Amino acid sequence: MSTRDPIEHLADTRHEFGEHGGVNMSIEASTTFTVMEPGTMPELFEGRKSAPEGCYLYGRHFNPTVYQLSQQLAAIEGTEAAYCAASGMAAISAAVLQLCESGDHIVASNTVYGGTYALLHDFLPAKANIQTTFVDITDLEAVRSAITDRTTVVYAESIANPTLRVADIPGLAEVAHANNAQLVIDNTFSPLLLSPAALGADVVVHSMTKFINGASDIIAGAVCGSVEFVQGLMDLHTGPLMILGPTMDPTIASKISLRIPHLALRVTEHAKRAQVFAERLQAIGVSVVYPGLPEHPDYELLQQQRCADYGFGGILTLDLGTEEQGNALMDVLQNRYGFGFMAVSLGYFDTLMSCPGSSTSSEMSDDDLSSAGIGEGLVRMSVGYTGTIEQRWQQLENALRDIGVVESAVVEAGRP
Ligand code: PLP
Repeated sequence: MSTRDPIEHLADTRHEFGEHGGVNMSIEASTTFTVMEPGTMPELFEGRKSAPEGCYLYGRHFNPTVYQLSQQLAAIEGTEAAYCAASGMAAISAAVLQLCESGDHIVASNTVYGGTYALLHDFLPAKANIQTTFVDITDLEAVRSAITDRTTVVYAESIANPTLRVADIPGLAEVAHANNAQLVIDNTFSPLLLSPAALGADVVVHSMTKFINGASDIIAGAVCGSVEFVQGLMDLHTGPLMILGPTMDPTIASKISLRIPHLALRVTEHAKRAQVFAERLQAIGVSVVYPGLPEHPDYELLQQQRCADYGFGGILTLDLGTEEQGNALMDVLQNRYGFGFMAVSLGYFDTLMSCPGSSTSSEMSDDDLSSAGIGEGLVRMSVGYTGTIEQRWQQLENALRDIGVVESAVVEAGRP
């Protein structure tokens, strides 16, 4: 399936100059905006004028700097519109609340980020009477049969956290649309690499905290979709972003916007190194999961859906069998070799490592963890790009030898 390279869309978007002709846009620090004549105010409140026409009302509604970053996100995702929020969870919650009324039903992947799982499994049923059925999203029949006459949303991650199973986005879109439901895809793990909207998704959400920002210094999110959908998020009576108010600060929007132009370079380097490590780990007999390995169950599926310039993503997992071994590996990698850091999150320039079973997926019950295939010894690695590949590989193979996962002789044999 061919989709246009997202950075071509990005290059086509309007370059916003600063107020004094600066090459970078100015930060609009105001929380309120004046109108030239009183008649404009009711038009703003009635939604007849808004950000697309250059008219602003109040900072919790649209802000010009946040709007500009949102335009960049819409370009990357190939959607009509987008708007940013204070976090990925705010973006996900707003998208879901916009699509569901009390009594509605969601069919979601059984492998989603722990916070999303908690939102769907615990929060929404208790607070809003919105129920979710979790299914193996790679089984389209299971998705189809979980749909009820109250299902309004099918929800999945493009590449699932942390199992790295790939969503069949066109297949899911077909099932969702045949049942009058909308497909929401969390594309946090695969910006640029996958364009869910071009593949059939109705709404795309991001935690920009990860690859998009890339420096682990900002929490941020985005919702991408049609103009109507994004305007709906801002409705003065019912819009979840407007009413619940998880507003992105314009200074944050400016910072992220300055990092968007090198997103493609970063994503490419993350993926290049993840691919090298995955191949070498496999060669020395370590149990590794990476969608760029032909042995991965969804390798072909990802081949069909991806934009080929960006590899297969920057995340891999190693199964060390037990939590003790997983912890031992991370300990040695961080504290003996300086390979990376034991920390949750992903998309940082240095490598980040965590055991999802006892951290980012710990909101899930033991049964749900095991049916999603998240073992206690699973180590998730967001592969960074600092140092040289050979330097980092040396550290990784030394650590594996130190904790006895591979024999010295085998490590030697696996060396390229
Ligand atoms: N979606 C995915 C796939 C994630 O991994 C995360 C956080 O780890 C989120 C959403 C939530 O994002 P945030 O922490 O920006 O709220």
